[in-house]
Amino acid sequence: MAKVMSCRDVGMDCDFQARGETEQEIMQKCAEHARTGHGMQEIPAELADKVRAAIHDEPGNVAPWKEAA
Ligand SMILES: [Zn+2]
Repeated sequence: MAKVMSCRDVGMDCDFQARGETEQEIMQKCAEHARTGHGMQEIPAELADKVRAAIHDEPGNVAPWKEAA
């Protein structure tokens, strides 16, 4: 099952969502997004903990992001 986390869940005013099959994949996407979207060179340990805590299983088998395409 895919996992997802929202930038908003960690206190950012941002609609970015990272999806992946593993926590590692999501952490990578978040690091990339933090750099390009928020100008962070790296994610501080404190924020990384929040990100990990915000990762949850994607609900159901629908793919709402595909409908928007
Ligand atoms: Zn963001």
